[in-house]
Amino acid sequence: MTSPLEKFAPLRNRRYALAIAEKIRKLYDQLKRRGIDEISIMHVCGTHEHTIVQFGIRSLLPRGIRLIAGPGCPVCIVPAKEIDEAVELALSGVRVYTYGDMYRVPGTRMSLAQAHSEGGDVRVVYSFSDAVRLAMKDTRESVFFAVGFETTAPTSAVYVVRRKIPRNLKLLVSYRLVVPAVRYVLSHEHELSGIIAPGHVSTIVGAGAWRFVAEEFRLPVVVAGFEAIDVLLAVMEILRQLRDGEAKVHNEYSRVVRWEGNTVAQRYTWQAYEAVDAAWRGIGVIEKSGLALRSEFREYDAREHYEINVGESVDVRPGCKCPEIILGRAVPTDCPYFMKACRPDRPLGPCMVSSEGTCAIWAKYGGWVELQEE
Ligand code: SF4
Repeated sequence: MTSPLEKFAPLRNRRYALAIAEKIRKLYDQLKRRGIDEISIMHVCGTHEHTIVQFGIRSLLPRGIRLIAGPGCPVCIVPAKEIDEAVELALSGVRVYTYGDMYRVPGTRMSLAQAHSEGGDVRVVYSFSDAVRLAMKDTRESVFFAVGFETTAPTSAVYVVRRKIPRNLKLLVSYRLVVPAVRYVLSHEHELSGIIAPGHVSTIVGAGAWRFVAEEFRLPVVVAGFEAIDVLLAVMEILRQLRDGEAKVHNEYSRVVRWEGNTVAQRYTWQAYEAVDAAWRGIGVIEKSGLALRSEFREYDAREHYEINVGESVDVRPGCKCPEIILGRAVPTDCPYFMKACRPDRPLGPCMVSSEGTCAIWAKYGGWVELQEE
């Protein structure tokens, strides 16, 4: 079997990774001598999980250090009811623009892909700008399924605030915010030793947005980039802070992330949207964790414009462990369906669809192998 270190190329990166792994081992030994031998670090980003599994980072760490995937997949957490709304619109003749990642995510009865195969008008786009461009060319009634975290909302916000949206295009807003979700996780999980904050979201919200992790929960928090070395450096910094009794925000990704974030993007987001209590798939309502269009922009709101009746929705199929996986309480191999009834080509749950879903990542790169080797 390939050593995880062989995935680090060029050679100088491999040497660097080895040196960091060695420092992590020494820090861990120091903590262990003080009786701290279980360290659980949560990250909240599908791309971090991708890097961790692809580069076998878990297998480079001492066994007492657990890297836990938290709520980092923006399509996995959209409640089935909101997918049902998009499906309902598509089947009623309204064109639905959606991101590719959301296309196959199952709702209660079906996904948007299935709605398309049943005659619904569904188009995959790369951005809100694409939807605007297409809606301007074709005047039929259309809806943009607006999903994503803090990183995605600013683009549509610019169009909303400038009122540059064609009359035939509405927004079905399902944006969610990672920062309140991390607060929710920390309020409910008492075993965590530190947080690796997401690089993408932090470019918008800023490293300073994570100060509450250090100040209120007394935990180290490191904003990290997406190279394997970035993740290793984040783990090392968290262990260093634990050893030295510190709880601070450390910005490892300072080549991209500023303390205050992207203030222009923030300004547009809060001009167009307000924070509302919002449901997360299979988890329930998290306070102020979603966005809704402000009242002055209701004309763009698909839920105001259309009467959408979807009836009873079902977030999670019996046996699917997506909610536990999203909260970091389980891993894909805890699910009896993983790589059996549920596979990337026929997903049962949302975590097996998106490239940021933990089940899909483990299916692609074999994340369970690392655990079996322990
Ligand atoms: S393997 Fe499939 S059914 Fe199981 S938790 Fe993951 S998405 Fe859900």
